[in-house]
Amino acid sequence: MPIYLDYNATAPLRHEVVESVLLLDGLPANPSSVHYFGRQARFLIDEARLAIAHSLGVSPHELIFTSGGTESNNMVIANFDQVITSAVEHDAVLAACPGAMILPVNKEGQICLEALDRRLSALPEDIRPRTLVSIMAANNETGIIHPLGDVVRLCKHHQIACHSDMVQFLGKSPIDLHASGLDFASFSAHKIGGPSGIGALWCHPGRHLTSLLSGGGQERGRRAGTENIIGIHGFGAAVKRLDIDAMNAISSWRDNAEALICEGCPDIEVIGSDVARLANTSALYLPKIEAQTAVMKLDLAGFAVSAGAACSSGKLKPSHVIAAMGRGEAAAHVIRISAGWKTEESDFLGVARAIIEFYKHY
Ligand code: PLP
Repeated sequence: MPIYLDYNATAPLRHEVVESVLLLDGLPANPSSVHYFGRQARFLIDEARLAIAHSLGVSPHELIFTSGGTESNNMVIANFDQVITSAVEHDAVLAACPGAMILPVNKEGQICLEALDRRLSALPEDIRPRTLVSIMAANNETGIIHPLGDVVRLCKHHQIACHSDMVQFLGKSPIDLHASGLDFASFSAHKIGGPSGIGALWCHPGRHLTSLLSGGGQERGRRAGTENIIGIHGFGAAVKRLDIDAMNAISSWRDNAEALICEGCPDIEVIGSDVARLANTSALYLPKIEAQTAVMKLDLAGFAVSAGAACSSGKLKPSHVIAAMGRGEAAAHVIRISAGWKTEESDFLGVARAIIEFYKHY
């Protein structure tokens, strides 16, 4: 089996998640039913909601279960007329607001706060209540962490609603949403070892969101459709297994691997090494080789990593994230190594050696 180092794309399902889902074996689980089986289903959903809410520092009724990060981002964006976002967001934000004002990032990949302040100051008074600022907590391609506290402070000062795509942040740093000052936040279960097709949108109790879908009154009227109980229950089980200390320990393995690579191949550059990054992510600029080729070489050597953003077709496109950092020349040459709960120190050493081995021939 190859070594899997593509956790930012998706994490392997955790055993505990699979085991917890087996509880549903044979259970007809529609929580809207008033009979015994319906009540059992409702109990399981409430239990998962409580566990997830607890880990985010919010009340359970503030969470809306969705089909994942994409739907959560789309839903909050659809509730506003004007969106201000950054050039390095995931397509689940950028494609959902084609008319958005796009803010630049600095050469370190972090949101340009002066540009945000200027945009917010220039907003006409009547548009402010219908405007949303959406800035991701951490970037999926580089792991670079944005100064969200400063973003929130500016939004509060200008009285603008603030959302964060926290899909990559969950499980890698502690989250306290009530203390954060945010109004909305998006999450996805499959990035933390839960099932695909389930996520959550957190909505501050002082805010109101209308449903994207028309239908039943599930999720307090905010998300129509029979609840995905397998997904929700699995999401709850995955959240219970989050271990931020273990995740932080990974950063020293990552740093050692990066040091080894840069020593063996001095022209390889670590993207974002000067700013706060997720502990599990390493984005490497390989000037002499296209990222697509490097990913294939590593695949042959037994390591599954990725490059830029994979399209749904499976093809690779140059990274809009790296390009937005003013590094157009590097956009097709950056590979991403991302680790998670099954990763061992030897996996990092192995991938570092494999990179040095093939790169020295270029
Ligand atoms: N936002 C970010 C930052 C992501 O990395 C992803 C997934 O790659 C998404 C949103 C989309 O989440 P989902 O796959 O649950 O729709």
